[in-house]
Amino acid sequence: MLQVKNISFGYKKNVVLKNISFDVNPGEHFSIIGESGSGKSTLLKLLYGTYDLLEGAIFWNEIKILGPKYNLITGPTFIKYVSQEFDLMPFTTVSENVGEFLSNFYPKEKQERISELLKVVELESFASIKVKELSGGQKQRVALARAIAKQPEVLLLDEPFSHIDNFKKQSLRRSLFKYLKEKKITCIVATHDKDDVLPFSDRMIVLHHANIIACNTPNHLYNYPENKLIASFFEEFSVLEPYGILYASQINVVKNASLKAIVKQTYYRGNHYLIEAQFNGETIFIEHDKALNDHTEISIAISKD
Ligand code: ADP
Ligand code: MG
Repeated sequence: MLQVKNISFGYKKNVVLKNISFDVNPGEHFSIIGESGSGKSTLLKLLYGTYDLLEGAIFWNEIKILGPKYNLITGPTFIKYVSQEFDLMPFTTVSENVGEFLSNFYPKEKQERISELLKVVELESFASIKVKELSGGQKQRVALARAIAKQPEVLLLDEPFSHIDNFKKQSLRRSLFKYLKEKKITCIVATHDKDDVLPFSDRMIVLHHANIIACNTPNHLYNYPENKLIASFFEEFSVLEPYGILYASQINVVKNASLKAIVKQTYYRGNHYLIEAQFNGETIFIEHDKALNDHTEISIAISKD
């Protein structure tokens, strides 16, 4: 189990994380979310031992994660960390990058392992291409394959699909996260994308103002967002008394009702339309199956249990 015990850290005077505590179970898929600048990357770096803590301690089972003051080489061997910058060797091939840390003792096994890894990140056809010739998204996939090559116990991923286009992103997510679950690799993912979290994470934390403001399952936080910040991570929402936070999907346009709103704007969203409307002087968002003309008066109903 990973145990983060009351850690604090700051760059110079600026405190980024204050008295943070949480545990991650072996094999768990754990997400860290928060606005840009909330300290997600800093937290991952601390878990890897990149910096010395101001306070507190981090343990993986009985092993204490040490910062540079106490450790010459950053990063314990059982943890792999894929940063937002992914450090690769640009002048060698995709295969060589992925296989860099694998033993040369059994060349055939090594080749098979590289093929298996390239399959997970869907780069089979790029094996002999030099990394410098790849796009940002392809490089990110090489970095992911490289990180799992030697089966770490813990994998730290910083916005792992941020450079990968939508065409590839969905299937790559499924492929990588399925692989990690099968191999029981504990994975901790910093992200601002709900699609990295909702279908895959066992639990998640929300960072805000140097603190953890929520720690729960994605299902719980989605259904019971305690505040606007949490709701905004998932969907477009409105705040309507006495209901509180309502997702656009929880407000319906109905034939006739006492609640009236005026349509301001309609946005096409593929499988639905998002209607921006004026209600009692407030802007609200409604999910609807048809586009509506601006200035139309509509009746609305709330569908929240
Ligand atoms: P996130 O990943 O959530 O966007 P970061 O962990 O990168 O957030 O940054 C948290 C805060 O720490 C920000 O205010 C950022 O400006 C600051 N910060 C990040 N890295 C450094 C650094 N190397 N030196 C000084 N300040 C930093
Ligand atoms: Mg970051």
